[in-house]
Amino acid sequence: LRVTFTPLQHDSGKRGGIITVLQDVTEQQRLDQQRKEFVANVSHELRTPLTTVKSYVEALLDGAAQDPELSNRFLKVTMSETERMIRLVNDLLQLSRFDSQGIHLRYVETDANQLLRYAADRFSMFGEQQGVQLRLEVAENLPPIYVDRDAINQVLDNLLSNAVKYTPEGGSVVLMAQANRHLKRLYISITDTGIGIPKRDLKRIFERFYRVDKARSRGQGGTGLGLAIARELVEAHGAEIDIESEVNQGTTVTFWVPFYRGGTAG
Ligand code: ADP
Repeated sequence: LRVTFTPLQHDSGKRGGIITVLQDVTEQQRLDQQRKEFVANVSHELRTPLTTVKSYVEALLDGAAQDPELSNRFLKVTMSETERMIRLVNDLLQLSRFDSQGIHLRYVETDANQLLRYAADRFSMFGEQQGVQLRLEVAENLPPIYVDRDAINQVLDNLLSNAVKYTPEGGSVVLMAQANRHLKRLYISITDTGIGIPKRDLKRIFERFYRVDKARSRGQGGTGLGLAIARELVEAHGAEIDIESEVNQGTTVTFWVPFYRGGTAG
């Protein structure tokens, strides 16, 4: 609330009362504040990898390039930091498109079993590399869903990638799906046995750039935007996404998508 007092003064110099204006500026201020924080975040997120790249390139120019093993290592870091910056800029472009144009979904009837199987297949390699077992546990004849396929694939990719990234070697990730024929929804969940998220962070975890441990996220190549994008895509379907977690036990993210209109649901 902004309050301004303007004293009225007569020509004679006598006070003539006070005009009081009450203005609700909280919403405007909140948006301004959010915008400032966002720009600060983006700048910081880009400066960090750029500084790393600069120092490695400097070292190479200063002679490290003569040592094949060292230069290989430095070039690999430069490469992965560059890839992360590209991911970051792509995520940002996508979010800014959402903000300016809204999300335009192309709904198509989709075979849920196939969609989930392909998603699990996309991550089996990454899981193996990380020593994390990935399982698909779904009934064989799920009803068809009515979704934007690219959007839901991206949601699955973001969530599966997190589950594998934040689960130490020897752990497991399970992709499950269950049809609720009454509500005409397919509930999809991804459960991991990973590091978990502290309770105090859970309610903000879907915000852009919100992370529990920035260094760890960056070390894993993260941008801090994956969950924010996932939530926007799910909500664009008129659906919901939710997260539950226990530190050192694991995390479950659940979202639902609608069945095909007039589909098998009764
Ligand atoms: P990031 O690129 O950092 O992974 P996300 O938006 O995908 O960004 O996730 C935000 C943060 O939420 C992560 O940095 C991490 O702290 C936490 N997080 C997300 N998924 C998991 C998970 N499955 N287990 C533990 N922490 C998670």
